[in-house]
Amino acid sequence: QPNAVRMPVWIRQNLGQDVHYGKTDAAVHEHRLHTVCEEARCPNRGECWSRGTATFMLLGDTCTRACGFCAVKTGKPDWLDADEPNRVAAAVMELQLRYIVLTSVNRDDLADGGAGIFAETLRQLRLRDGQIGVEFLTPDFRQDQAAAVSTVMTMLNELPDNVRHDLVWGHNVETVPRLYQTARRGSKYVRSLSLLALAAQQSGVAAKSALMLGLGETRDEVLAVLHDLRVAGVSRVSLGQYLRPSLDHLPVISYVHPDEFAEYEEAARAMGFDWVKAGPLVRSSYYAEEIQQQSR
Ligand code: SF4
Ligand code: SF4
Repeated sequence: QPNAVRMPVWIRQNLGQDVHYGKTDAAVHEHRLHTVCEEARCPNRGECWSRGTATFMLLGDTCTRACGFCAVKTGKPDWLDADEPNRVAAAVMELQLRYIVLTSVNRDDLADGGAGIFAETLRQLRLRDGQIGVEFLTPDFRQDQAAAVSTVMTMLNELPDNVRHDLVWGHNVETVPRLYQTARRGSKYVRSLSLLALAAQQSGVAAKSALMLGLGETRDEVLAVLHDLRVAGVSRVSLGQYLRPSLDHLPVISYVHPDEFAEYEEAARAMGFDWVKAGPLVRSSYYAEEIQQQSR
């Protein structure tokens, strides 16, 4: 009975920690912005926010897809605010964040999938602070992936030289292909790989992806996904434990032991990934700001 899998001590301990969200918390609320850190009740909030890292959600809080593991609400979105990039950038400056991750719900209702808002937010941020680290965590842009990549690259290439730094472009495959039908309806594994491959081909872009474990995948399936990601040119990867947001979501099939995460991390490094995070509470934006990792 999958529901009966007990939450192990290495997760319970950390979720129970008393954390201080500090000034990031206050400012996020004041500006009425959405952060994934909060929406997903991410267990790393205290740690990330106190380091000046946060993940902002663009394009509203309603998704056109309904992944079985995700806490974001599904529906017909009505949010499109041309001023959003400006407001996000202004808030980020006020918060003095050093590294931000920009993500969004899926907007299958928009012709460009929201690519224009991502690009404009990046532009606004870089023009205000040439040094800020920016990372995308985008939908699969199934409307037209080439057009979405081109929108972003055009914007990036038009920036003045001194603020045109590298961009990390993340898109999460989330789980192994066999589980897409149950866990990720409306999405396709190969389509996700093709977006990553396109992003990885752009100069000045590092492609990144993430997997959530505990949905019933096997070890060989995880290794096969890591291999596919490398073939697509992905250089950064994270693996974390799936935690069920509510009883309406997919059950946790297994809690992956920290030792097993360590094995995946080693395997990923051996395959040539140059940024790898793996552990029960690792989320795709966890320690995203580390450009180069020390070897373990
Ligand atoms: Fe936010 Fe990501 Fe850090 Fe969680 S891991 S608090 S979502 S930046
Ligand atoms: Fe959640 Fe993304 Fe799936 Fe939408 S597409 S339900 S935001 S994981």
